[in-house]
Amino acid sequence: MVRSITSRGLALAALSGTALAALVACTATPSAPPATQGSVDQFVAQARQTAGEDLKFLMPICAPQPAVRAVPSAAMDEGLAKLINQPAPAPGQAFDNLYYVGAAWVSAWVLKTSEGLILIDALNNNREAADLIEGGMRRLGLDPAQIRYVVVTHGHGDHYGGAQMLADRFKARVVASEIDWKMMETGLEFDSKLWDRPPRRDVSVKDGDTLTLGDSTIRFVITPGHTLGTISPVFEVRSGGRKHTAMIWGGTSFNFGRDMLRLDGYIAATERMRKIAAEMGIDVPLSNHPGYDGTVAKLKARAAAPNGPNPFVSGQPVVDRALQVLGTCARAQKTRFQMMAQGLQPQPGLAAFVDDLAPGTLNTAQAVRPFPFSATADEHGPLGAHGHASDAAGS
Ligand SMILES: [Zn+2]
Repeated sequence: MVRSITSRGLALAALSGTALAALVACTATPSAPPATQGSVDQFVAQARQTAGEDLKFLMPICAPQPAVRAVPSAAMDEGLAKLINQPAPAPGQAFDNLYYVGAAWVSAWVLKTSEGLILIDALNNNREAADLIEGGMRRLGLDPAQIRYVVVTHGHGDHYGGAQMLADRFKARVVASEIDWKMMETGLEFDSKLWDRPPRRDVSVKDGDTLTLGDSTIRFVITPGHTLGTISPVFEVRSGGRKHTAMIWGGTSFNFGRDMLRLDGYIAATERMRKIAAEMGIDVPLSNHPGYDGTVAKLKARAAAPNGPNPFVSGQPVVDRALQVLGTCARAQKTRFQMMAQGLQPQPGLAAFVDDLAPGTLNTAQAVRPFPFSATADEHGPLGAHGHASDAAGS
């Protein structure tokens, strides 16, 4: 639309404001078909087809999201408490240099380098950080005193909650994007009393920056959408003498309300990451919520057959498909919001997407539930009823 105005700039200059608006509206109409339930369904069907069986656990992303950003409430805290209180999976080793010390709902990854450890995300609060991150590292033979950096993928409490405590205790530096530091300092998008306070501003990174510690380098790709400064870290992992490239998608759900610019940013970020993944040969797709990458089941499979093929190595085509699913679901959600703007009510509710999941095969429905969530009966009921941690293997 901007381009068409520019090319007709001289002619338009002579028109009144009203005439200009009418002309621009006419110019825009053919390129923007009206949003319909049919187009939503088409995007969802496309996402489902792209996801196939192996990426089915991504389909809850395609569920309708509320048009208004959730505000702190007792109901939200109650839902969050249920997610946090699920029994944690056992900590485990995904690669020679990558370990999982996360919870059932949210992840914490440890990258082991020749000069110390880099922790990626710090869970909901200090208690979890002490129990699961420190405790898990000790169970895996890692020394928490070797944590040199805590990377916070984005400024939501389930990822930064334990960051300051760990930084203080082990003299580690905390890394976040400039944009999300600002958000954490000036006004949290979401908050809950179950989350400990955001860390104090420390190392600030922007898109393309790298962090090198000993023999390892993390490249920070900013993938705006979930938050405006979401970091998706890319780094090398090793398994049985082979090198692979991992990417942790740093922010997944569309829990920001009817914000079309953000959805457009999210779609663009998935497209850009597809290119980066192809260029860099990213073949290990990871998430900071275990429900979005099948971490728990893969850790179990890895532990059962440590010398077999590494279940975390999905291959570049799977990474590409996963990003396509995220982008296609974002397009479905964008279309729903467009429908709402036209006074239409999108269907169906979340229940249709929960049925996509085979309970217990990868993770629980509860664990992949986007947070914060709508408190409407439609989106609340089915997941609450399905919530159990069948994959938990101790704490
Ligand atoms: Zn988040």
